[in-house]
Amino acid sequence: MPARVLNGIAIRDQIYAELAGEISALAAVGIRPGLAAVLVGENSASKVYVRNKIAACEKLALSSIQITPPATITTAELHAIIEDLNRRDDVDGILVQLPLPPQVDAKKILEAVDPAKDVDGFHPLNVGHLVAGTPTLVPCTPAGVLELLHRSGIPLEGANAVVVGRSNIVGKPMALLLMHANATVTVCHSRTLDLPATARRADIVIAAMGRVAMITPDYIRPGATVIDVGINRITDISQAEKIFANFPERLAEFRAKGTALVGDVHPDVANIAGALTPVPGGVGPLTIAMLMSNTVKAARLRRGQRTPAAAAVQR
Ligand code: NAP
Repeated sequence: MPARVLNGIAIRDQIYAELAGEISALAAVGIRPGLAAVLVGENSASKVYVRNKIAACEKLALSSIQITPPATITTAELHAIIEDLNRRDDVDGILVQLPLPPQVDAKKILEAVDPAKDVDGFHPLNVGHLVAGTPTLVPCTPAGVLELLHRSGIPLEGANAVVVGRSNIVGKPMALLLMHANATVTVCHSRTLDLPATARRADIVIAAMGRVAMITPDYIRPGATVIDVGINRITDISQAEKIFANFPERLAEFRAKGTALVGDVHPDVANIAGALTPVPGGVGPLTIAMLMSNTVKAARLRRGQRTPAAAAVQR
């Protein structure tokens, strides 16, 4: 039987509906949460990501500003921009779109963001809160995965979860969130021995390696839940023919467009998993939803408003 599809778009819309209520309650007391996006240079993928984030702010009637310094900016100049945003009272969330140009000290810039406005959850203080189990602003992609698991009714308590990937942005915070939700967590990476055997012991597999369709059915225990965080663009027809061999509609779509988005999980996993997130339309939409949620949360916390019931990943 094919896996149940975990629809990230439907869950994103649920979260947006809850946030809309929260945003109107804040508006009623004169608060309009605001996000500042800093987009350095001309990276076309980064431009698309920032455009989508600004569009989400507009959809939810949050205020947003975009700051677009040139790729030649120095660390000191970018630091000054962040300091200015830290001081502005109309800015609740600061997002520095990565990657930054090589001459900029990214660590120094991310550490300059006021932790109370750190809606990406990358500041060491917020990382420390997450490790301690007292999370405030949590990195958006793993927060979105946790929300998706909760809202899809996937049991986490006592589950064996395998996270493949140990990046600071996805793998590590994902593992911590699952551990705090009482799953038993194994973190795998490029040096893990016999990854298929380790993954096959899991009730839940989270794939976040950036490796096209690497998780094939032999990594998955029948009935397991598989969350595909990977987003990879393929343009090679022979690669598409292999990956979509059992999915003629997706192959036809590839032929029409000359390109397709593929996750880190092979589409054939749908025939063995119990539940699976699609790519696109799975984890991706939730990342932006959690950025919006973090911006509203930052606005609330900075202004001493009480926590509402809605859209709270940190349960
Ligand atoms: P990253 O920083 O490149 O980290 C990749 C991780 O995967 C590393 O820990 C690496 O291990 C591990 N890895 C690489 N090859 C492996 C292999 N063959 N076997 C086992 N582990 C392997 O990537 P990231 O930023 O975490 O992103 C991961 C994926 O998620 C990418 O496809 C990215 O596009 C996607 N992503 C999606 C969203 C979204 O909104 N859906 C957001 C962020 C990222 P080592 O540590 O040993 O090198």
